[in-house]
Amino acid sequence: MVIGIIGGGASGMAAALAAAEKEQVQVILMERQARLGRKLQATGNGRCNLSNLHAAAGGYHGAQPSFADYAIGQFPPEAALRWFRSLGLFTVAEASGRVYPYSDQANSVVDILRFALEKPNITVKLGFEVEKVKKTADGFRVLSKEETVSCDRLIVACGGLAGTKLGGSMSGYKLLRSLGHSCTKLRPTLVQLKTNWGGVAGLKGVRTNCHAEILRDGELFARSTGELQFTEYGLSGPVIFEVSRDVCQGGGEWLCRLDFLPEVAVDTLEGELTRRRKTHLPASELLTGILHNRLGRVLTQAVGVPANRSISELTEEDLRRVARAVKAFDVSLTEPMGMDCAQVTAGGIRTEEFDETTMESRLIPGLYACGEVLDIDGDCGGYNLQWAWSSGRLAGESAGRNHT
Ligand SMILES: Cc1cc2nc3c(=O)[nH]c(=O)nc-3n(C[C@H](O)[C@H](O)[C@H](O)COP(=O)(O)OP(=O)(O)OC[C@H]3O[C@@H](n4cnc5c(N)ncnc54)[C@H](O)[C@@H]3O)c2cc1C
Repeated sequence: MVIGIIGGGASGMAAALAAAEKEQVQVILMERQARLGRKLQATGNGRCNLSNLHAAAGGYHGAQPSFADYAIGQFPPEAALRWFRSLGLFTVAEASGRVYPYSDQANSVVDILRFALEKPNITVKLGFEVEKVKKTADGFRVLSKEETVSCDRLIVACGGLAGTKLGGSMSGYKLLRSLGHSCTKLRPTLVQLKTNWGGVAGLKGVRTNCHAEILRDGELFARSTGELQFTEYGLSGPVIFEVSRDVCQGGGEWLCRLDFLPEVAVDTLEGELTRRRKTHLPASELLTGILHNRLGRVLTQAVGVPANRSISELTEEDLRRVARAVKAFDVSLTEPMGMDCAQVTAGGIRTEEFDETTMESRLIPGLYACGEVLDIDGDCGGYNLQWAWSSGRLAGESAGRNHT
């Protein structure tokens, strides 16, 4: 039996290795880029956050989030780590549950998978951009501009639209649609959020820990605690990625309320600022030693305290305003950055059209899909790659079953 796999990214490589565990199965892995795992190589800021020990039901989203439960349950993070270890990859888990290669290099993950794919029953075709798929009486014909591959079963592992510079594209959605499948609305997620607050440009590059709450028309929409990074356009970093899903969609006024000192009560902070009134330093130094210097200055100015005034001359109301800005600073949000900047695509091919216990299409027997092309996206912190491994392996194992 020949299994064709379109897409040599995370889920496609996992599917290929799982299918090829049966020696009688011949796998043809087709990747349009010049190398395998191009996006994988860029994950986790080049470190590849390949899983999360807490990845389980509840960490996944989509029109039907429970679709992910079976695949994740069959191949949970511990199984993924054992599998990687069997391929020769050493990993390390942080206290947060995020798992990285011990080498701290995403390259190691790509290389280990690439080496594992060097098996007699796996053929890798690089630079093979699938343009069309045709269902035949006994299988599929997969066509690029130059070549045609015939296979008995076909796995679509083309990934999503996010990260367009790293190979994200509409291709998988189009191929599956051409076979009769349908797609939900695609949105960027795990993405920076833009603001029209002018102060942000002066904070570009500043990183700080904070608690972030997203408010829509004054109602709490999402919240998270972690690292925030200011960018030229707005807010980024893990804390923002975690709350970015569906922000600024569907109208309304969107705000991000930031608490830059989540561990300190506002009264305690006010007490500390009052103590500082004994000094004759300028007001621009009021938050020195508490927050990043640049952030301290911008917050003080943002609440209208003149930078040159001596701290000793500030009124109690001035100090209260600064303390409140530190504890609850509102940044208006305009929109998320585009798909090119997003890590993951929310939305995708409708999961009710697939059997979650096999990843096989309910419309076309012998057709499978896995990874981000499906309408499943995970939380920030290794959940999306865990989905790629779990769904990819399930698709590969199922496609390789019952061969003649
Ligand atoms: C910058 C960035 C950082 C990220 N960091 C993390 C992280 O640290 N942890 C985490 O869990 N997730 C992370 N993600 C998300 C994660 O990388 C993806 O969810 C995951 O790679 C999806 O796996 P996939 O196999 O579905 O798709 P991909 O890994 O994108 O693979 C799809 C492959 O299919 C190929 N392809 C597409 N169309 C065709 C075609 N027509 N013919 C042939 N080949 C085709 C593509 O070239 C690509 O190689 C990150 C994403 C980005 C963009």
